[in-house]
Parts: sequence; structure tokens; C-alpha cells
Amino acid sequence: MTASPQPSGRSFPGSGLAKGLAVTLRTMTKKTVTAQYPETQPDLPPRTRGVIGLFEENCTVCMLCARECPDWCIYIDSHKETVPPAAPGGRERSRNVLDRFAIDFSLCMYCGICIEVCPFDALFWSPEFEYAETDIRDLTHERDKLRDWMWTVPAPPALVPAAEEPKEYAAARKSADRTAAQQAAEAATAARPEPTRPEPARPEPTQPKPDRPEDGDAR
Ligand code: SF4
Ligand code: SF4
Repeated sequence: MTASPQPSGRSFPGSGLAKGLAVTLRTMTKKTVTAQYPETQPDLPPRTRGVIGLFEENCTVCMLCARECPDWCIYIDSHKETVPPAAPGGRERSRNVLDRFAIDFSLCMYCGICIEVCPFDALFWSPEFEYAETDIRDLTHERDKLRDWMWTVPAPPALVPAAEEPKEYAAARKSADRTAAQQAAEAATAARPEPTRPEPARPEPTQPKPDRPEDGDAR
């Protein structure tokens, strides 16, 4: 049989209470680190991987993101359209038109590969994180929602002084100008009054022919 170890120091009555109060007082004077979410929104760093935003004007439906996604959780549908030649005598071109772009966030592991491989800067990280659902099937988000998240993507960091303007800015400006011109043309077409069709000429009323006298009447 072995004897139980004895406590080395002697404690005074009430010393435990004093230690506890000292800890309480120390903590009371420190800055709190607990944020009362959702009343207090967290201050997230700009490169937070919250959700993926889609800038669909830049998407050419090349399918690279869907092919490289390790979870196969990007769904893209498209169809081909023929574009008339830009100049007379030119050749017609065909282009892909996006019909569906969806990401299943119940499968996504937030690796960021789709954003890295997109050659046309159509996908971005947004710090938005409040998209929890009670039904897992509702975590597949379609292009409209992905586009809404695009507007929560933080602006890129400022350029160093005297740096060249990135080519993406010029491309985005060109795309925005083209969309604005298209919308203005559509609005002008809608505001133009319908051409009135000329009324068909009414036929002149024909005079009733006088009755030919009957042969018997002439006699
Ligand atoms: S972040 Fe990764 S897992 Fe999620 S959609 Fe992109 S490639 Fe797929
Ligand atoms: S890689 Fe980029 S351009 Fe290609 S389909 Fe995906 S989002 Fe669109």
C-alpha cells in the first residue's frame, strides 16, 4: 500500500476565493474579444473566402472551371449562336451563350481552383458568408445569386504609383460601354412610334347604270 502525496504548500482559508476574484478583476479591465454576432458584424479581411461571385459578362463558357473543379460542383449549360459578320463580306462567327451557371456550395470545398483557372476573370471571392440554409438542396445557387454576390467583392488593392492600368479595366470598360449602347438602342427602338400603314384607297362609288328600255316598251 502506497501513501497519497501531500500538498507541498499550505493554503490559507479564503485564498481560492481571492484568486478567483483577482482573475475576474483582471478580465473585467481587458478589451473583450467576443463579438456579439449577429448584432455585431465581423470585420473580415478582404481576401476572405466566403462565397464565389460570377461576373457573367466575362464568362465565355470555356468550361475550364467546371472541368478543373475537384468536387464537380459547377454546373454550366450553354448553346451556340451565330453572329453576323462585323463587316460586309466577312464571315459569320459562332459563339457560346450562357444558359445556366450554378455552384453547389454543399459540395464546394472552397479550394479556389475555379477562380485561379478562369482565364477571363469571371469568378471572384466575396467575403459574404450569410447564406446558410436549412435544406441542403437550397445550397445550389444559380447565376442570378452568384451575380448578386459579385457586387460584394472588395475592390482590388491600389496600384503602385505610375503603374500601367491593368488590361482588365479596359476590357471591363469596353464591355460596360457595349452593354450601355445596346440598352440605349433597345430603349430607342421601344420609344419609336409604330409606322402607320396607309389606308387602302376606297373604290369610287359607281353610278347605277340606267335601265335599258325593254324591247316591248319601245314599241
Ligand atoms: S472553390 Fe474548389 S470546390 Fe468550390 S467550386 Fe471552385 S473549384 Fe470547385
Ligand atoms: S473558366 Fe471562367 S470563362 Fe470559363 S466557363 Fe468558367 S467562369 Fe466562364
